[in-house]
This record gives sequence, structure tokens and C-alpha cells, in this order.
Amino acid sequence: MTDDCRMTTDRFYGGVSDRLQNLRSMLAYMHDEHPTRNELTHWVIKNTNAGSSDAVNRHLTFLDSLNIIELSSARCGLGNYGQQWLDHHNHETLYEALSSGVKGFDTILKALQDGPMTDEEIMNLLVSEFNEAEMSKPGPAVRRREWLQVLEFVEREDGMNELTSAGQKRLEEKTQTQITSVGTAPSGVSVGDHLSQEEIEEAFETGFGYQITGINPRRDDHDRRYVLVFANEDGPYDDTVTQGQFEYIGEGLSGDQSETSPGNSTLIDAISSDIPVHFFYQQSGNGEWEYQGLIDVLDYEFEEQGGRQVLVFTMEHRYESGPKTDELSRKSIETERARLKNALNREPQLTDDSETYTESRRRARDSAFSELVRQAYDETCAICGSRRETPSGNPEVEAAHIYPKREDGADDMRNGVALCKLHHWAFDNGWLAISDEHEVLVKDAPNRDGYDEFKQLKGDSLDLPDIDEAEPRPLFLEQHRDSHGFNSKSHESE
Ligand SMILES: [Zn+2]
Repeated sequence: MTDDCRMTTDRFYGGVSDRLQNLRSMLAYMHDEHPTRNELTHWVIKNTNAGSSDAVNRHLTFLDSLNIIELSSARCGLGNYGQQWLDHHNHETLYEALSSGVKGFDTILKALQDGPMTDEEIMNLLVSEFNEAEMSKPGPAVRRREWLQVLEFVEREDGMNELTSAGQKRLEEKTQTQITSVGTAPSGVSVGDHLSQEEIEEAFETGFGYQITGINPRRDDHDRRYVLVFANEDGPYDDTVTQGQFEYIGEGLSGDQSETSPGNSTLIDAISSDIPVHFFYQQSGNGEWEYQGLIDVLDYEFEEQGGRQVLVFTMEHRYESGPKTDELSRKSIETERARLKNALNREPQLTDDSETYTESRRRARDSAFSELVRQAYDETCAICGSRRETPSGNPEVEAAHIYPKREDGADDMRNGVALCKLHHWAFDNGWLAISDEHEVLVKDAPNRDGYDEFKQLKGDSLDLPDIDEAEPRPLFLEQHRDSHGFNSKSHESE
């Protein structure tokens, strides 16, 4: 599910007064009959004011995404929340389902504490709180408000929405849980401590009964959920664990990973609730885990990896801890290097969709690009051939993007060229360009200081990288020339 999906909410049949009754009847029917998908759709059309089966499907899919029901073409049944709600008729359960599956419910309740709001104001609130909320009409806000009315957490009068005492109570309980579960490290354990499995079991008063690894949902004495997440560099997971934000692959070692497995579903719940997630990291197989404190699960998405779908969670450290990673983990850079090398087998694209990458992945990719380009040119300026080092042995040469990074120019080796600082500057600022035949072009600006120096380079051949496939491509070279006014005409006229 994408983030957009989690902004999306839907109704169910019936108005504020009879929606719960309709929902409960349907769940009871599903519980008793385990209908096929078709039978279920027919039941809804027959027993509610439902019109088209398209709309029914949309509503059912929504309930399925909340774990209230479980759809299947064969036999449909109840999801965890649906079963609980059918058993106990507790509004809290439905609220839990809605607020953990859809963003914004908590936000609305909290805001209503400060006084009644119109639907329009709720819409504006959601738009300001969630980057991904693209709303120009209050529809999505109204759908949330209606559910809150259905649950009797909100009352509506004369176009104003007001928190009820039940809503107020719900908020207080929620705050209470937050205070008690906001979870700090257990006593005697600090962020940065290295612990053995036995020490972890003792600190968290939990047994594992097996070699700990992966995602471990637990409950404390008060039945509050928390999670212990373990990541190691040698493990089967391709995790990129660095400071700040990082990615974590869900559980499930073969086949497609599932949103409903115990560990994955708990991490998904943690996105929109306050389940404390404690993070442990093991750099190499010395058996000790570094406790890195609490992390926030920000989001997740499915990604194709090695021929199967895996869940990629984006997480963020609450504390500046982590493996001493001012340097990025070597492993994450290697991963990006492999991706960039692979990309040489495909047609180049002018730009990268780097917006979609996490910050840590972007940094790893930057480093990988820079390393690959500099190495392909043997740390030598492709224009002047200079190969300088600092006294401590760091090369001066830089990996320049031909079509620039600020335009989202691709981190593609074919959009790169190794240049010394001077020629990097001259290239980026339009003194120099490169023809499709890899000949150095010089801007005809004889009145500018520097011209006499640069014009000596005119017509020189670029030193090409040792990998043919990585040669600068016309796609990028042409864009660079265009943006600095090196069209072919003026070049010929020189
Ligand atoms: Zn140079």
C-alpha cells in the first residue's frame, strides 16, 4: 500500500445513524456464512441502500485494508478488528482499525479539543498536517468526520463539528497510553549499550526461545504492545542502517512478504499509533547487539527484490545514535554501486526520480556515483589529465554531473565525468562543454578573464573512462550544451 492509500478513506452504507447497524449485520453474516466475494457483494446490495457493485467493491476493499474483513474470491471472513468488534461491540475497536489504517483521525480529534470546526477547517488541517493530502474539496475530511460521528466521538450541529464527551474520553485515554508507553529504555539499559541476547531478555523481561532476529512483537505486563526489532549486517536482510532515516526489510524469507504477518502488521500499526519500537543493531557476528533506542516507523511500501515482493519500511531513529555513521554504511554504498552498474545495461534516462528515495539512500547513491565515476577515469581529470592528491593521499578529482544534479540529472555513470576542480567549475559554469564526439568545446567569450587559458583546450579529446559503456552519452552532453548556449551553429562559426 502506498502512502496515498493511507490518506484515502471511504464510507460504508447507511447514514450516521444506521451505518454501524449495517456493518454489524454484514460482519455477522460473514461470520456465519463465510460467503464468496460474489455472494457478499449481492448480500450488501440486497440489505443496504447500495447501488452499483463497483461501489460495493470499493467499500469492501476499504474495510479489508483496515483488517475489519478479509476478502478472498473464495471464502470471505472477518479480520482481527472485525472479529473483536463483533464480539465486544466496542467503539474503541473500530476507531483503532480506522485510525491505524487511515491517517488523520487522531489529528482531527486533537484539533477539536480546542473547539468546534467546520468541514472546511478540518480539510485545511489535514492538508497542512500531511504533505501527501491533496484536497481541494472537503470530501475526504467529511468522510473522516462521518466516521467520528458514527462512533459518537463527534457531534455535528449547524455545520460545526464538536467533540463529544466520549471523544474527549478517547483522547484522554490515548494520551494516557502515550505517557505510559512512550517507552524509554528499560532501567539499566542505555542507548549505545552492547547487550547479549540473555541481557536483552532480562532487560525487557521477555523470553524468545530461539536465536533472536527480525521483528519481535511483544506485550508488557499491562498488555501493552511493543516491538523489538533486530538488524544485522550479516543477516539475510538487505538493510541500510544509518543514522537518521533508514530502510528495513520486513519479515518473510521466501515468497512475497505479507502485510498481515505478525511482525509486519505490528510495524504497520506502529506507523499510526504509539507502539514503542526498540531497535537493536549488530555490526558483525560477535553476538552482541547495540541498543539504539526507540525508532519511529514512518511508512512502508512494497518493492520488487530478487524476484519477490518485499515490504520496505522507512524508519527513523529518535536519538542520534546508531553505528557511528557519519560515514554511510559501506554496505549501503555497495548496494547503490551495484544498482548504478546494472543501470548501464539499460537506456539512460535524463533525470532520476530521486524524490522517492529516502535520505539515507540518496546519500548512499551520491557516494556510489562519485566513487564509480572517479574510479572509471582513474581519478584523473578527463579534460586536462591532471591527477593531484592531498598530502594525505585524497584525490582532487571530482565526479561531475553532465546534466546537473539540481535539475535532477540522473546519477548515471553516463551522465558523469571526472574533472579536476578547475575544470569542474569551468564545465558547470559554461566555459567548457563536450561534443557528442567527446571533443572539448570552449565558450567564445574573449573579453572574459580566463578565456585565454580555456581556449587552449579547444578541440582536445576527452580522456574516456576505461569502461566503454560508461562513456558520456549524447543525451546528457546535448542538454548541457543547450543550457549553456553551445548549439552546433555557433560552434561551427568559431
Ligand atoms: Zn582538469
